Amino acid sequence: MTNKRNITVARGDGIGPEIMDATLKILEHAGAKIEPEFIDIGEKVYLAGNSSGIPDDAWESLRRTKVFFKGPITTPQGGGYKSLNVTIRKTLGLYANVRPNVSYAPFVETKHPNMDIVIIRENEEDLYAGIEHQQTPEVVQCLKLITRPGSEKIIRYAFEYARKNNRKKVTCFTKDNIMKLTDGLFHKVFKEVAVEYPEIETEHWIIDIGMAKIADTPQDFDVIVMPNLYGDIASDVAAQITGSVGLAGSANIGDQVAMFEAIHGSAPDIAGKGIANPSGLIHGAIMMLVHIGQPEVATKIHNAWLKTLEDRVHTGDIAKNGSSVGTMEFADAVIERLGQQP
Ligand code: ATP
Ligand code: MG
Repeated sequence: MTNKRNITVARGDGIGPEIMDATLKILEHAGAKIEPEFIDIGEKVYLAGNSSGIPDDAWESLRRTKVFFKGPITTPQGGGYKSLNVTIRKTLGLYANVRPNVSYAPFVETKHPNMDIVIIRENEEDLYAGIEHQQTPEVVQCLKLITRPGSEKIIRYAFEYARKNNRKKVTCFTKDNIMKLTDGLFHKVFKEVAVEYPEIETEHWIIDIGMAKIADTPQDFDVIVMPNLYGDIASDVAAQITGSVGLAGSANIGDQVAMFEAIHGSAPDIAGKGIANPSGLIHGAIMMLVHIGQPEVATKIHNAWLKTLEDRVHTGDIAKNGSSVGTMEFADAVIERLGQQP
């Protein structure tokens, strides 16, 4: 009898295999009770002629394990390849994309040392529904789809997340001064749901000034919920101003299945060099461990990771003044510090 939890793992493209191997090594040494089932998705699968990028046996594994730990994937440019990330989110109903963005000053250089925000992005609707038309030879159209059930689900998720994680405020971003029906509905549902959470402070900003405020005074925010496209842009900006896009992880939550990953892409420019920062994927793993009921292992890894940064063991993307370590050296440094407190 084994009490290990089966999880589906895709090592991914570009820097994916490097950061995945480093992260799995940390998980093993930390005593995570997991049994990875490896699947091949992405570039290889596309190039073998499967335009979805994901073979049938991979779906079978995902539907069975219900937990997906995923390295970044490259979608080949042009030529009818669908985005695998969008396919996975829509097929598995992963409606909530949760992205914490935390500053680690003074150990990671940032203009915003007191930042600790969680962006909760709607993950299935909006312009990402992928409904596009050619109207005339010179006019094309993309439909922005916002539904009441979809909005209610993500907004309720944001408030429940805030309640569970002892967060004080939930902010909503939309552009409802211009898109009065679509963004107007999202904002309206936000105000309705907010009434059920009287202990949580709420506010709404128009997305453009809201983003400007994130860039200027991120410490004024706590949990922020928004439609899909705005969330995509806001979460990259937020991660970058904590110090590097290589730091943040994300959880993609559905009713049945959940997926955990780094927020960044496959970084083809540095692939194969062994220099990528595995921290984003490590944070994805930490969220996964909490999700599957192994929070002690999650805390142990998080403490060791913090201690590693404190000891100034840094990968190239966050290293200042010269010396940096490679992907696997960084992972080994985290492993050495398992059991230590930051
Ligand atoms: P994709 O098409 O897969 O999204 P991309 O090149 O558009 O890839 P990212 O992969 O997110 O976007 O990379 C953006 C930049 O950030 C690149 O210069 C990349 O080298 C850098 N980068 C991304 N992830 C990391 C990481 N984990 N460690 C170091 N640098 C990274
Ligand atoms: Mg990208």
